[in-house]
Amino acid sequence: MPVDVLLNCQECRRPFAANRFGNHVRCAHCKARMSKLEQLRQLLAHWYYPRRWRADLIEPSVYFLIEKLWTANGQGDSLYSGIAPANVNYDIFRNLVTRTIGRGVEDGWMDLTFPSDPLAENPIYKLKFKDPERFAKEVEALFPDVNWDEQIQVPIPNLEGRSLFTEESDGEPAEHDEESSEPASTTS
Ligand SMILES: [Zn+2]
Repeated sequence: MPVDVLLNCQECRRPFAANRFGNHVRCAHCKARMSKLEQLRQLLAHWYYPRRWRADLIEPSVYFLIEKLWTANGQGDSLYSGIAPANVNYDIFRNLVTRTIGRGVEDGWMDLTFPSDPLAENPIYKLKFKDPERFAKEVEALFPDVNWDEQIQVPIPNLEGRSLFTEESDGEPAEHDEESSEPASTTS
C-alpha cells in the first residue's frame, strides 16, 4: 500500500508528496529531480522521527543502511578477506566500499530498491549489483596496492532485502510489526 511522504525539494525548498521512490522522483513544483540518496536520507529521517525516543534505536543514516545491506551475512568479511588489502583495516575497507556503492546508486550501476511503505516498522530495502564488472573495477581502483594480476577475483556479495533493524531478517517482515497491517513489500 503506497503511502504519501512529504519530501523537501533541494532546489526550490518546497515540500511535495511522493508515494513512489527511486528513479524519476521529481519535485511537484519546479520539476527538479531528486537523487536516490537524498530520497533515502529524507525517508530515513521521517522513519526515525516518531521513534526518536526509543532507546533501542540509533538514527539510521544513508551509509549506515548501505553498509548494512552489502555486509549482511558475513559478506563484508568475505569480500575483505578475498581481497586482503595490505595496510587497510576492515573499518576503513568497509567505509571505502560503502561510499563507492553509494556513488554506484547515484550513477546507476548499483540498484537500490525502496520499500513500498518506507515508514513501516521494518521497511525493507534492497541493493542489487546490477553491474558486477563495474563494481569489481571500482573496488580494484580503491586498492591500487593489491596485485590484481594474481588471479584475485572480487567476490560479488549475494544480496537479499534487509530491514533496518532486525538482524534475523531474510527478506521477510519481522513478527513484531504492529504499526502497519500491511507487511513491507519484498517485491522488486
Ligand atoms: Zn522544487
